[in-house]
Amino acid sequence: MTCAKRVGGAKYPTRIPVILLARPSMPTPVPPPESSPMGGDASPRSLTLIRTEADLAALPASERIRYRLVGADCRFHANDNISDFVREGETEELKAEVAQHMQAVLRALVIDTESDHNTQETAQRVAKMFVDEVFRGRYQAMPPVTEFPNVTRLNELMIVGPISVRSACSHHMCPILGRIWIGVLPNEHSNLIGLSKYSRIVDWIMTRPQIQEEAVTMLANVLQERVKPDGLAIVMEADHFCMQWRGVKDLDSAMTNSVMRGAFLKDPNLRREFLSLLSKKTA
Ligand SMILES: [Zn+2]
Repeated sequence: MTCAKRVGGAKYPTRIPVILLARPSMPTPVPPPESSPMGGDASPRSLTLIRTEADLAALPASERIRYRLVGADCRFHANDNISDFVREGETEELKAEVAQHMQAVLRALVIDTESDHNTQETAQRVAKMFVDEVFRGRYQAMPPVTEFPNVTRLNELMIVGPISVRSACSHHMCPILGRIWIGVLPNEHSNLIGLSKYSRIVDWIMTRPQIQEEAVTMLANVLQERVKPDGLAIVMEADHFCMQWRGVKDLDSAMTNSVMRGAFLKDPNLRREFLSLLSKKTA
């Protein structure tokens, strides 16, 4: 299992907040034989607590998943995929949990969800939309991608796009709608993947709360690892609704980002060829 490592933040498998432990059936934690050479501080408050899956089962699904993530020292930022830590059936539990909290948000906004027929099921709808739809790239595993060896030794510039991007910004959870173009310069050792797989991978990365700059870098990393091309170029152009719906309310501003790797960095002619083909496609 590979994951980005967490930097800073609580390591609560070793120091679980007391409030989380206050369950009547919870056995008193047994201190390790002799004070742990790792710990130093042997006071009861800092004892290492190893929870079993049975103990975890009594916690809300989000706490359980978070516990596994922290225990594995894996990052769980808004744009990280955490599917390796989500067990079967837990996304259903997550949805129920999110709906409950969403209901509290509506209440805090002083919306009468009891008599307002428009908002009666809103909390459930939003929870389903987050977990199953717009943020599903966090909870679902990467779509299966078959790679084919480059038997005919293709080594010409290939451009895939425009691929639709539907994402959300992690600052405001506002939609990001746009397009992506991917340029690949394969070599004889590259793996080729089907055209539709590029769209699937884009969708998987983008259906998370994202920051455009990080999203294109993540996409580049995944494609670099899969395809192993000599050169990889990605251009993303998108409307950020946090600029249009709120904030400066600038309806015409769009953001364009690019990532150039390998041959696209070293060879200005290749870069120019890619960008000129794009401008023809967008014109
Ligand atoms: Zn935003």
